[in-house]
Amino acid sequence: MSLVVVGSVAYDGVQTPRGRVERMLGGACTYIALSASYFTQVRIVAVVGEDFGEEDEALLADRGIDLAGLARVPGKTFYWSGVYSEDMNDRTTLRTDLNVFAEFRPELPPHYRQEPYLLLGNIQPSLQRQVRRQMDGVRLAGGDTMNYWIEGHRQELLETIRDWDCLLINDSEARLLSGEKLLRRAAEVILEMGPRVLVIKRGEYGAALFTKEFHFAIPGYLLPDLCDPTGAGDSFAGGFFGYLAEQGAEGGGAETDPALLRRAVVYGSVMGSFCCERFGVDRFRTLTRAEIDARYREFKALTGF
Ligand code: AMP
Repeated sequence: MSLVVVGSVAYDGVQTPRGRVERMLGGACTYIALSASYFTQVRIVAVVGEDFGEEDEALLADRGIDLAGLARVPGKTFYWSGVYSEDMNDRTTLRTDLNVFAEFRPELPPHYRQEPYLLLGNIQPSLQRQVRRQMDGVRLAGGDTMNYWIEGHRQELLETIRDWDCLLINDSEARLLSGEKLLRRAAEVILEMGPRVLVIKRGEYGAALFTKEFHFAIPGYLLPDLCDPTGAGDSFAGGFFGYLAEQGAEGGGAETDPALLRRAVVYGSVMGSFCCERFGVDRFRTLTRAEIDARYREFKALTGF
């Protein structure tokens, strides 16, 4: 049971109150894939340039991630840089150099096409659709998006998410997409757009899950030390979807066991919290499944009453 992941594989420059790194491995696809790899076999679809380092490729390969769909083309790898506010709840993008990503036309290797799980990282909605169409037997399809697509490519985005089972976005994106301020109202509006499961990520404040039948919310894990929040949302998505794939989940909404969805939200939060402990993907170099399961149990104890 494999999970196909599409999105950016990038180099990032990040500045937080804890320090600054000029160039390190990043990208939505990278974070999703690393996080999900603790739960299930992951196969990625992405593009990098000639400058993509062997050690970065090795990190992904060492986690057992299938790189058959990682195209290497002439040019430079996507580059993004940002700076975080003092409390790290806000970030300003300084640079987005699409580079080889500008011409990216995702082409799935034949052995990807029958896989049951698909997670579409934040890229242009039309590309997300192209990938969705190349998959024949998807049991559960989900994806992420961002303000840029909601504001500038709304129609294309609405057509794209119509046949997803699950949408994962943050709270400001949910408000923007729905036109509603209250998250519960926003969720009602979004659940009419197609996805049967909506996960709203709320940064340090936790996450909420909505279906037409029930909703569920958890606080954020209170980290003793926060280094760099980059990729936390993607790591959440990777943990959430990876866990559903590991458990063989089917369909969305009513067809998916509510208890399974709740546990998936907790695993998502756990993965997002680990990601923030070091710069970039560094925490994934040493993280073990045992540590993940221990934090999951801690979460259960913290939220039980
Ligand atoms: P997150 O902190 O979960 O929102 O994800 C941050 C990652 O998204 C970084 O590693 C960036 O390389 C990547 N990223 C930022 N902007 C874009 C974009 N416009 N398209 C694709 N990936 C992006």
